Amino acid sequence: MTDTIAFIGLGNMGGPMSALLVAAGYRVQGFDPAAPARQALADAGGTAVATLSDAVQGASVIVLMLPNSDIVAATVHDPGFEAPPGTTVIDMSSSEPMRTRELAAELADRGITLLDAPVSGGVARARTGKLTIMAGGEQADLDRVAPVLACLGTVTRAGAVGSGHAVKALNNLLSATHLLVTCEAILAGERFGLDAETMLSIFNSSSGRSGSTENKWPNFILPGSYDSGFGLRLMLKDMRIATGLADQLGAPDPLGQASAELWARAAEELEPTADHTEIVNWLRKDHSR
Ligand code: NAD
Repeated sequence: MTDTIAFIGLGNMGGPMSALLVAAGYRVQGFDPAAPARQALADAGGTAVATLSDAVQGASVIVLMLPNSDIVAATVHDPGFEAPPGTTVIDMSSSEPMRTRELAAELADRGITLLDAPVSGGVARARTGKLTIMAGGEQADLDRVAPVLACLGTVTRAGAVGSGHAVKALNNLLSATHLLVTCEAILAGERFGLDAETMLSIFNSSSGRSGSTENKWPNFILPGSYDSGFGLRLMLKDMRIATGLADQLGAPDPLGQASAELWARAAEELEPTADHTEIVNWLRKDHSR
């Protein structure tokens, strides 16, 4: 077991996750360029530091919770990333599986183990330590960091390194496509004169149910709060990872491609900071007849 953890990326997800590690008794050295994110870690009792180099100093485990693979690669290649051999890096971001494999091989040459452990469950379950964690890597390496991951959620090993990132992107392709078609169904039903809450209650005890009918519509769309904490652009990034993977592997994905295309149009037309649940407003506005 490790006592000092470096936590890189203290945003909507990394903020509450790092706070849980502090609460579990770890010394958490957190870095994020955003000062308010660092302040939140300090308020939770963690050690907020101003540089990547200070964060990784003395840490045998480095957790990454960053927006995308480009930023993950830039972080690992930064001169301040002075991790010695024997360090374990856990990339909990939703990254690109093929790049994760390449990075793992490169880090292995430096004596560093890279594991991928992306998550599902959103900000609400990041706060309560009840995330679904889908992990890639050798079982023995995962066992070594099991006490750290257990503070954050429940781990399922998906396979070799990169497998967690692959299944995460595929999960979000499903999730985004479910949400889009749920919005279409409810908007059509409303035009017929049906009530959205009544439709959701019926879907939720029928075969049309999904995370969109059980969680996203009742909690973020019906109340008009659009505050799931998961950005629309991050969702689009994940869909592109999934469709890119299908392309690379020659797997058929005509619906996934069409869905990603629609989400890309929404991303162009909505505010850059839009929550992914705001896709319903893009549908309402741009497809009204
Ligand atoms: P976010 O945008 O809220 O947070 C990302 C943080 O990374 C920001 O605070 C940003 O300042 C920081 N950052 C950017 N560049 C950095 C760098 N070079 N070094 C250190 N920090 C840097 O995003 P989020 O919602 O927390 O998502 C993080 C990851 O988790 C993404 O890969 C996302 O796809 C994934 N994810 C998000 C959710 C969700 O519900 N929000 C759920 C599951 C997975």
